[in-house]
Amino acid sequence: MRKKLVAGNWKMHKNLTESQALITEIRGIVRDEFRQNDAEIVVCPTALALASSARLVEGSEIRIGAQNVNENKEGAFTGEWSASMLKSAGVSHVIVGHSERRQYYNETSQACALKNKAAILEDLVVLYCVGETLEERESNQHFDIIKNQIEQGLEGITGEEMSQVVIAYEPVWAIGTGKTASAEQAQEVHAFIRSLIDSKYGQAISQAVRILYGGSVKPENAKQIFGMEDIDGGLIGGASLKPRDFFEIIKAAQ
Ligand code: PEP
Repeated sequence: MRKKLVAGNWKMHKNLTESQALITEIRGIVRDEFRQNDAEIVVCPTALALASSARLVEGSEIRIGAQNVNENKEGAFTGEWSASMLKSAGVSHVIVGHSERRQYYNETSQACALKNKAAILEDLVVLYCVGETLEERESNQHFDIIKNQIEQGLEGITGEEMSQVVIAYEPVWAIGTGKTASAEQAQEVHAFIRSLIDSKYGQAISQAVRILYGGSVKPENAKQIFGMEDIDGGLIGGASLKPRDFFEIIKAAQ
């Protein structure tokens, strides 16, 4: 049985004071209402708020994730931060290869492989994102695109290291658009991703790896999406900024 996981991606929202207020509110709801079988919870604030958020959730069920990591250990890389720096701030997870980073910062799957490796070597769990654009889906290229993203992004990751990898399938056309993939459309791609992991790493690892769905998940559609066989939780953008909605989504992922 794979434990479900729900991660909130705050993107570039909330200043430091607002972040502290938001994480405190989420922590309060989780403290009062979290039950043992609920999904694992990860919250990914901006880099600015990572260290203070990690302190504010100490002793709770909430883990803190970053939205990016540099592949180098240290050096002259202005504006960047390494996996060990994230770890020192109390971070346990990191999103790699989000479509916004692929689109606006030209991150390739090959670059993601280096980031994935660097994060894993520091004992972080990576939430590695893949997904096709609308154009790619409409021209029926989505399976090829996802195959390449998986193969290239996991290059150099060993079977043992796969216990620190979570995949997030996020069709680009569903992110922040209000358009959700149907549960069946998502399941089809999740099963395909699991089959790719199976070919590369074998059945035990493919059955253990968690594959999250992301793209306009809300309390109203979460249960149906999370009810599909190969969907092990969600990566949540907009709705993760609303504590009550975020918690309802967590509750839907049992
Ligand atoms: C995301 O940013 O990963 C995401 C899925 O966003 P939204 O839930 O807002 O579509």
